[in-house]
Amino acid sequence: MKVSEFQRLIEDIYGDKDAARGTAGTYMWFAEEVGELSRALRRGDRSGLEGEFADVFAWLSTLASMHQIDLEKVAAAKYADGCPRCSSTPCACAEPTPAHGTAQGS
Ligand SMILES: [Zn+2]
Repeated sequence: MKVSEFQRLIEDIYGDKDAARGTAGTYMWFAEEVGELSRALRRGDRSGLEGEFADVFAWLSTLASMHQIDLEKVAAAKYADGCPRCSSTPCACAEPTPAHGTAQGS
């Protein structure tokens, strides 16, 4: 299944409910699922991880659809030629410094 097919599938399943809920409420569900993904990552539970990745992707797809964003198209447009900053694959950008408040350049 292509990303665009998945996005259309989620639109068919949840589009009406998501439109009625609106962006703010739908974003809160998305954020909640991201939190569940974080917990699954910490636990390292494989079946939980698979489900949480699917849920986060579904909620991201829904939010994109609500704003007429074609996820497959915009992701390819931004990343098909490598890193959007340095245009290399793999990315050749300097890693951001981990220390707070000392980031150089951008
Ligand atoms: Zn880069």
